[in-house]
This record gives sequence, structure tokens and C-alpha cells, in this order.
Amino acid sequence: MASHDPTWSDSTRCVHAGSEPAPAHGAVVTPVYQTSTFLLDDETYDAIVAGRGREGLIYSRYANPSQRVVQAKIAALEGAEDALVFSSGMAAISSAVAALTDAGDHVLASRDLYGGTQTLFRDHLPRWGRSASFVDLRDPAAVTAAIRPETKLLYAETLSNPTLRVADLPALGALAKRCGLRFVVDSTFATPLGCHPLDHGADLVVHSASKYLNGHSDLIAGAVAGSKEVVDLVWPHLKLLGGCLDPHACFLLERGIKTLAVRMRAHAEGARAVAEALEAHPQVQQVLYPGLPSHPDHALAQRLLRNPGGMVSFVVQGGDQAALRLCRALQVSKEATSLGGVETLVSLPFNTSHVAMSAEDRAAAGIVPGMVRLSVGIEDPADLIADLVAALG
Ligand code: PLP
Repeated sequence: MASHDPTWSDSTRCVHAGSEPAPAHGAVVTPVYQTSTFLLDDETYDAIVAGRGREGLIYSRYANPSQRVVQAKIAALEGAEDALVFSSGMAAISSAVAALTDAGDHVLASRDLYGGTQTLFRDHLPRWGRSASFVDLRDPAAVTAAIRPETKLLYAETLSNPTLRVADLPALGALAKRCGLRFVVDSTFATPLGCHPLDHGADLVVHSASKYLNGHSDLIAGAVAGSKEVVDLVWPHLKLLGGCLDPHACFLLERGIKTLAVRMRAHAEGARAVAEALEAHPQVQQVLYPGLPSHPDHALAQRLLRNPGGMVSFVVQGGDQAALRLCRALQVSKEATSLGGVETLVSLPFNTSHVAMSAEDRAAAGIVPGMVRLSVGIEDPADLIADLVAALG
């Protein structure tokens, strides 16, 4: 894996870590190694025979220089020894969980998980011989009570969707260590510029790189980062489940990450301005943004997050129908699922991410009628606010 200088700040790592000028022509930008296979020699034959397919360059499902470059960049940003990229966030999550559990094991997960992960854990893990249950990770007594003799993995998200509750990673990491559990954290919403879950006891951090890491809503990718020992456990699952990232998508992802630091500053600046404007608006009942003092986890967010991020949720007067009318009236913000791109996206949890839940379960999870989720882009905040105020009117 290409090296970087550990004294570099985040912005410098985003631009330079892992990137390799082309050896043949000196091109400043890393070339795209758009090849499925590589010339074999004695060294690669030895690697194949010894089962060390990750070290050599043999076949692009095992490893490819374009993957290695972006993996090195992500590892540098997460303060990790090693990283892998995948064809989606779900490929990263499913490979990580498959790697760190065996048949008969139990996964204890946050009850606020991203819907796809929740479905994977609830409906598919039992078909792989594993089980999963969900708990409110903010309730330490409930977490301790939910740990079974066969529990092997604790799974959390740094920021929950859509209520943006902050997981107390240091407390959860300490608990996982005490109880001998592996700890995996999905830090998609927080990004490596928000926090480093590995510093708080996580064994692996996972990302939907389709979101902030890439940042341009134009590819689907995933990543895991951790110690070399743990990442080496995940690699056979990448290889055999086949969720490898295509070299051209690696190039796009690496290019996207180069601007992550400037984008995250703009996302957070815009999100704060939008959140403050919404909080002052008479048609808005509640605003959830971890950077605002009114957020229930503001104090924890200040301790844990170097950047409170670009996600803002709010509740409009008049319930879900009023929220729908608001989405349709917006001109600058686009009504679409997903997040973390340069363009502001608006969606409603009741008909997208949380559609499978009953209205009662949604209310119990704090997803009240009229809740709107904004992924604040990098447009001028004044334009976003004017658009929202006009639509609310
Ligand atoms: N984790 C989180 C927090 C997400 O929001 C998503 C997708 O929305 C995923 C994982 C899955 O990622 P992907 O869509 O890249 O498979």
C-alpha cells in the first residue's frame, strides 16, 4: 500500500495520501488500471501457491492498483493500518459481518440502523446461521442485558438516520472490549473528517462511499478500514462474495475524496445556516442538527465530532402531507434519496428509508409525522434558505 506522511493534516491526506504518479510518463494523477488480469511471473505464482493473493497483482477481483490507491487514501484518513474498497456500502457491511462472525454467533446492533443494514441483519443473517437483535445503544443497561453468551459483534452507526442521534463510541468501545465483542461502526454520515471510530475502540469502520467520500452522487461504492489483521480477515469475503470495486469507479472515488475536506467544511457551514433558519421559522416544529445546542446529543457531538456534518432533519407543521407538499415546492433542493453529494437532497423517512416501519414504530423511534431529511449540499446557504422559506410559505 502506498505510504503517506503521518504528520499531514486531513486536507493534505485527502489530496495526496495513497495517490501515485504514473511511473512510465510521470502523469500527476494516478492512472486508471482498467485491467481484469496481470502478467504472471515466479513471484506471483509463489503468492498464488501460498494463498497470498492479496499481496501480488494477479486478478482484479483480488487486488488492482486503482483499488490500492483509494484504499491507502481511506486508511490514511481513518487513521487505519489498512482498508478495502467494495462495489457498494452493503457489500462492505455484509463482508465485514460475514468475516467477523461464524454460524451460531449473535450480532447486537443499534435499533436506529440504516434500513438496508437492518433488513440484512433481521432477515438474512438467520439464513447464514447467525442471529441479530436490536437495542437502544443509548441505554447501557439495555445493551448489557441484550448481550448473550453467543454475542460476538456489536454494531453501531456514528450518526443515526434520520434523527441524527450520536452514538457514544468511547462508551460502546469500552463495553465491547470488556465483553470480548468485536465492534463495527458505520461512519457514513460522520465521515473520517468527523471522527475516527477506530480511536474509540472500533475494530472496523465501514462506509457507504457512495455518500460523502465520493461526494458527487455518481457512483456506488463501499469501504472498510481497520488493523491489517482484521482487514485481512475481511479480504477473503471480498474475494469470494465478489464485491470488488471496478478500477474506473476507484478512480472516480479517489478523485472525489481529494475534495472531501473542503466539501465537509462547506456542508457543515451550509447545514448550520439552514438549521438555524429552520429553527426560527414558525412552520417548523423541531430541527435536529448535532451542531445546534437544541440537539439532544449536542454535548456528546461536541466531544466526539470534529465536524457536525451536513445532515439536517426537521419537522414541519401539518404532518406528512405538508412535508410532501414542501418537497414538491422546492426548486434548488432535489427530491431524491441518498445523501452526501454536492447537491442538496430532500427526502421523507415515512415514504423512503422507513417505509417498512409502522407509524407507531416510527413514532417510537422519534420519526414523527412531518419529518423531512435534508442532505445539505455545497450550494450557497442563502439560496437554500430562500428556497426552503418560499416552499414553507
Ligand atoms: N450505511 C448507511 C448509513 C447508508 O445510508 C447506506 C445507504 O444509504 C448504506 C450503508 C448502504 O450503502 P450503499 O447504498 O452504498 O450500498
